[in-house]
Amino acid sequence: MAEQSGLGPSYTDSDFFFRKLALGIPGVLFTYWLSADRASHRYLFVSDQVYSILGIDPAVLRRNAGMVFSAVHPEDAEGVKASIEASLRALTLWRCQARVRVNAGHYEWFEAHAAPERQMDGSTVWYGQFHNIQHYKELEHLLREREAESAFQADFQKVISRLSTQFINHAFGTIDECICELLKAIGEFFAVDRAYLYEFSSDYCVMDNTHEWCAAGVQPLINSQRRVPTDDFEWWQRKIDEMVSGNRVVFVPGIEQIPVGPERTMLEEQGVCSMFCVPVRVGGVVSGFFGVDSLRKRAWREDQADLLIIVSGLISGALERNRLESELLNQSIRDPLTALHNRRYLMPRLDEMLSRANRYREPFTLAMFDLDRFKRINDSIGHLGGDVCLRAFADILLEQTRGVDVVARFGGEEFVVAFSGIGPLDVRLTVERIISAVRSHDFVFKGQRLPLTVSAGVAGIEDLGGAPDSPDPIIGLADERLYAAKQAGRDCIVDASGVSRI
Ligand code: GH3
Ligand code: MG
Ligand code: MG
Repeated sequence: MAEQSGLGPSYTDSDFFFRKLALGIPGVLFTYWLSADRASHRYLFVSDQVYSILGIDPAVLRRNAGMVFSAVHPEDAEGVKASIEASLRALTLWRCQARVRVNAGHYEWFEAHAAPERQMDGSTVWYGQFHNIQHYKELEHLLREREAESAFQADFQKVISRLSTQFINHAFGTIDECICELLKAIGEFFAVDRAYLYEFSSDYCVMDNTHEWCAAGVQPLINSQRRVPTDDFEWWQRKIDEMVSGNRVVFVPGIEQIPVGPERTMLEEQGVCSMFCVPVRVGGVVSGFFGVDSLRKRAWREDQADLLIIVSGLISGALERNRLESELLNQSIRDPLTALHNRRYLMPRLDEMLSRANRYREPFTLAMFDLDRFKRINDSIGHLGGDVCLRAFADILLEQTRGVDVVARFGGEEFVVAFSGIGPLDVRLTVERIISAVRSHDFVFKGQRLPLTVSAGVAGIEDLGGAPDSPDPIIGLADERLYAAKQAGRDCIVDASGVSRI
């Protein structure tokens, strides 16, 4: 090269000129030669950057191209080979993307372009370049993830809106079905193996698996997870505490992250590999948790975690509404003073019991109770004292009857017990027990003991020659007999066999 004053440098050595030019390019320029028998290959030219980028001496590559190929990621090696084959056969532009091990020791993405040219001797030479596209690949990956994320979120919104409509429209008493449906939809959507709901006891010492969905072929756990005491699980107790007081989620990407202990052993036995639990709040307190298990290790994206929190919010809302509804329902069918069922509840139940008795030819008997001389009690100790006696009598009725018997406050100081499935003799024994229990019970108000007795009128369907269509005749007959018991001096029973006094 010689300086020509005023005209700038002039290049006589084209190889020197080319190398200089190649140095300014952010990639590697090359001419790659492949022999006709494909047994040998080398770079006729390769820019010096190949050393700074891949850590390979260009002089070596000029003798043998092998080192570049052995730096290609094993998973991409086949693709590189196939693209060269295609270019070689059709003499079309060789274009290829592959991960190549860089100087720093890790792999980065590169893209190569080269035009082939067949030589007289049957060998082929490619003229081209390769350059680093790691940055673009990362952006592409991020973009794809974002796209996947927003498609996922759009689908999730559809699932959630379907489920919330279901929850809103659910008839009272079908909440369990709605929750099961939700667990299935969410389990399938997130492609987990199990989705479940647990309820805590009020002191958080016991947890109960109330609902569960399992993917096909996955062992259900619900039956082994009823009323599980938490005292033995120290790590889990800490997590419960975090859920309850900090409203925090429990996220375990891999169970090897749980300290060795009973909970880890249990999860290992259950085959759980990764799990995610979110607290469920009802009435302002954490009442349980919703969770999903995966039997294989999986990565949870942050947005997926957020979505699970939304699901738990949906469950919380539904449980909350259900609680309010059941409270309202309870209020409407229960007597606030004694907490026994009221007449509104009793009448349709009597209809039901009668038609059942009709259908299955079962006995049905109704006992009506009226406290004796109750006005005097009120007069002597006041209404509040009378109320205490009414509550105590209600407790005696519940103690002396079976869970299947319907016990109701009929009005004032009158009560009804409806018995089904037991005959008149057993009913008489029960009513006798009630009468003696009242007689011997200490009804005490403000330190004052109040003697109290009760009378009963009992009527069964056999007294009417078969089950009537409505409960009225049987109530009427029991009421008549109750009146007869009062006439007979109170503190006794009147049934089909007449007055009996214990
Ligand atoms: P008998 O033996 O004939 O049944 O006499 P009795 O005094 O019980 O007569 P009656 O059935 O006419 O009186 C019922 C009384 O029960 C009248 C009413 O003040 C009282 N009572 C009704 N409901 C309540 C209540 O909710 N609380 C209280 N403390 N008293 C009530
Ligand atoms: Mg009375
Ligand atoms: Mg009365």
